Amino acid sequence: MPADWYRPVDVERLADVGESREFDLPLAEMPRLSPALASTDGHAQCRVSFAREQGQPVAEVAVEARLGLRCQRCLKPVWTEVDGRSQVRFVTDPARVDENDLGIEPTLAPEGKIALRDLVEEELLLSVPLVPRHDDPRECGVTEDEPTEDDGMQKPFAGLGELLKRKT
Ligand SMILES: [Zn+2]
Repeated sequence: MPADWYRPVDVERLADVGESREFDLPLAEMPRLSPALASTDGHAQCRVSFAREQGQPVAEVAVEARLGLRCQRCLKPVWTEVDGRSQVRFVTDPARVDENDLGIEPTLAPEGKIALRDLVEEELLLSVPLVPRHDDPRECGVTEDEPTEDDGMQKPFAGLGELLKRKT
């Protein structure tokens, strides 16, 4: 059965009928998220519920997934349980993005259409840590007995260089 999460849906219509959709979205199908993953096996469990708030189309986006993020110290997977939930309001005209904000995060839906995948992917991107790392540095297999040059600056391959040096 073909899933319809990639096809743009009509947010006004779904808000009118109060549509709620539950679906599994393969992690490999999320082009903005997947480069950050050590593994794109598996899927996210998603639910998108449309409604109206003061006449405007809104949706609650809920997503659960277990993501293998790449540790920025050792590049090995850091398994992270994500349970994200937020409300978005749809803005169909970019020029009117500041009107009626209702205190809800605006999401652009050009011509009133948006793909469910884009909603879910955005929620996942907001839910993952910017710089994923193993909590315990010993899991990385690198000891931190000397201070790193600048812990605030993340260099994805710095940890790998250290590992290679140690093997020689
Ligand atoms: Zn690590």
